[in-house]
Amino acid sequence: MTDEPKLLESLDPIQEKALAELEAVQDETGLSAWRTAHLGKNSAVMQVFGQLPQVPKELRPQLGQKANRVKQALEAALAQRAQALQEMALQRSLQGERLDVTLPGRPRGRGRLHPNTLTMREIYRVFGEMGFQVYRTREVETDEYNFELLNIPQHHPARDLWDTFHTTTPGVLLRTHTSPGQIHVMRQYAPQPLRVVLPGMCYRYEQVSTRKDIQFTQVEGLVVDQDVTLADLKGTLNEFYRRLFGRQVRTRFRASYFPFTEPSGEMDVECVLCNGAGCAMCSGTGWLELLGCGMVHPTVLQNGGYDPEKFSGFAFGMGPERTTILRYRIQDIRDLWGNDLRFLEQF
Ligand SMILES: [Zn+2]
Repeated sequence: MTDEPKLLESLDPIQEKALAELEAVQDETGLSAWRTAHLGKNSAVMQVFGQLPQVPKELRPQLGQKANRVKQALEAALAQRAQALQEMALQRSLQGERLDVTLPGRPRGRGRLHPNTLTMREIYRVFGEMGFQVYRTREVETDEYNFELLNIPQHHPARDLWDTFHTTTPGVLLRTHTSPGQIHVMRQYAPQPLRVVLPGMCYRYEQVSTRKDIQFTQVEGLVVDQDVTLADLKGTLNEFYRRLFGRQVRTRFRASYFPFTEPSGEMDVECVLCNGAGCAMCSGTGWLELLGCGMVHPTVLQNGGYDPEKFSGFAFGMGPERTTILRYRIQDIRDLWGNDLRFLEQF
């Protein structure tokens, strides 16, 4: 038999002791430990519940009700303490991390466009006015697209001029020119007529110097239609340079050789610095070599999905860095891709 009156009397001290300890609790961990000690399975009040079955029937309700009141009182006190602690924590963080909204904002560094991007956008603008669309293609290419489909088979001597970076996957390389884009765009749109510019970064395994870098941009152009002639090529490019450099600029064509065009040519523009008189930029000749061009080779047209009996076309490729250097009088081409802020912030 249990000692019922003692059990009943023990409840008040249990409550007092628990509440006194709760006052000392300062954080989440303390709350959790207190809950286990005073409301857990082995706590004093829960043990009173455990002994109820052994108490004589007529005393059970009184003891049960009292134990219940103590338990509820402890639960209520716990909730109150938890809320009080939360508010104290909030107050502390508000005091500690006070934000002064009257401070002036910190200015953000503003980016700007790369000088070569400015030149390329100018080139797109002029060609856009002339009815060309910009068509972008991948920088990582297959040997097939970079060389073979452009009429440059294995062991062709032109490959020596275009040594490049190879990936660890055989036959996959960084493109040496934007010309593989010609095959991509032709295969996508054949047999519709085409008038596109293909811009982007190209890579070559080169000795780096003030005039050559291992990476550079190109803007390639391609026109395919019925009855396109060399006269269209010359007229288009002359018009392009007049729009870019001004009405008065003079140009000249020279014969040249590329595997993917026949006939092929190079176009020079009168030096825009000395107006043809001769200067250091043009090595005293008065002319600047600015692009290669020609009529698309029948084999290339065929590889692109056009019947060379019905279609003809012209293509050209220019290096915007050349124009950028002229526009901004840049001495060393390596500055363009050297990623030096002291250089880039001048534009
Ligand atoms: Zn000159």
